[in-house]
Amino acid sequence: MSKNRSPIPRPRIAIAGLGIESSTFSPARTEAPAFHPLRGADVLSRYAFLAPGTDLADAADWLGTLVGKALPGGTVTARAFAELSDDLIARLTALGPVDGLWYDIHGAMTVEGLDDAEAVLLGRIRDVVGPDVLVSTSMDLHGNVSRELAHLSDLITCYRTAPHIDVAETKERAVRNLLDLLVNGAPRPFKAWVPVPVLLAGEQTSTRIEPARGVYAAVDEVVAVDGVTDAAIWVGYAWADEPRNRAAVVVTGPDREAVGAGAERLARGFWEARHDFDFVAPTDTLDACLDEALASPLRPYFISDTGDNPTAGASGDMTWGLQQVLARPEFRSADGPTVIYASVPGPAAVDTAVAAGVGAVVTVTAGAEVDDRHAGPLTLTGEVRAIRHGDRDAGTEVVLRVGSVHVILTRLRKPYHHEHDFTDLELRPRAADVVVVKIGYLEPELFDMAADWKMALTPGGVDQNLIRLGHRRVRRPLFPFDPTMPTPNLTPRFLPPPTEPLTGRDE
Ligand SMILES: [Zn+2]
Repeated sequence: MSKNRSPIPRPRIAIAGLGIESSTFSPARTEAPAFHPLRGADVLSRYAFLAPGTDLADAADWLGTLVGKALPGGTVTARAFAELSDDLIARLTALGPVDGLWYDIHGAMTVEGLDDAEAVLLGRIRDVVGPDVLVSTSMDLHGNVSRELAHLSDLITCYRTAPHIDVAETKERAVRNLLDLLVNGAPRPFKAWVPVPVLLAGEQTSTRIEPARGVYAAVDEVVAVDGVTDAAIWVGYAWADEPRNRAAVVVTGPDREAVGAGAERLARGFWEARHDFDFVAPTDTLDACLDEALASPLRPYFISDTGDNPTAGASGDMTWGLQQVLARPEFRSADGPTVIYASVPGPAAVDTAVAAGVGAVVTVTAGAEVDDRHAGPLTLTGEVRAIRHGDRDAGTEVVLRVGSVHVILTRLRKPYHHEHDFTDLELRPRAADVVVVKIGYLEPELFDMAADWKMALTPGGVDQNLIRLGHRRVRRPLFPFDPTMPTPNLTPRFLPPPTEPLTGRDE
């Protein structure tokens, strides 16, 4: 296992991967174009740290195959997965022999009729490159690490912050660690994997606050130990229903003992904090959040419409939340408290508003084309206040004022994470009384802007109330589904290198 390899002064390193977070609790489906796949040399343009002139760019031959990244969404169709994987594999095959491969994924992709899609794809990649090539995998901490995925990788890591402010740093670390192994002819690292039978929503595990802040702070201490190359904790993805969905820890490095001790420490830290994870903001029903926002002197008051958060995998086209807002008598007239609601897709409604123009009063129907389980398409009458074309996600955006509510309608779904997403539409969120956004925890700009904030526990494809979603296929016992479960086995499982088969049971 710890054989030295020949140093490779300038290795050939392929780059491949598909990234999406997809909810199996949303009726939406994701097709291939949603991944905006880049192919061949274009793949390199995704990464600033591989730009020409950087030390990394000069240290190896970087060979793009196919990398696609989609907005979170519904389950990927079998056809889309086959099409993208076949293309990736054909391009990888055409490259000829490589020394290493960087597998750039998210880790929460669900595919129709398939479990553990990222391990399946890496298995196909291994069939091409062989078991001797070193593979470094980088992921989102909301991805899932099955035993198979960890086995097929030599290095595997993920972000250490949520909200994620270390995305580029994580990818660069995965690449540098891979390059170091190749250039130095170092032996394959030991890999200690520990599944942690806990499944929590991202909104309960923000590293801005305890206990996640402390749980993740331990990662730095483990990595600082001699003989440890990398360490990572995955929260896992709560809105998919596969046996792999749960938290996990992997530590890699040249010193078996240090690697094992680090993995066990991180796994215990996560497990022991399980009762303390709580939502990052106070939660309530949407109606109670609106009551509190209206009573509060703090402006702007933000409310997250969490169940239909498109950046966690919901359809983003539900009308349930907007219906509740428009039903409030306080917002019926134009001089009521200023509310911004982001957002509901409705292509036909957008067309009508664009044809009528700014200032016109229109009656349109929008939403619930994908997810109508909790409320149907919503008919609105209001004044067109703004029209904007050319957005990468939304295509066209329209603001319709209904009473005192400024409703953002889009051609296609779009996340609203930045101040300019609003000001581009002539909306002034800082001057608004209440801003309702389909989001979970507020992204940094909105977080900084909010004078106060509450998360509404609304229904949808990423319902924060996990217990009522009805998971059937996750491994049990699992916290919090089995709140009084016994302490699990948190000892490190050392996985064999990809040259040796995985034996024994996944437990
Ligand atoms: Zn994430």
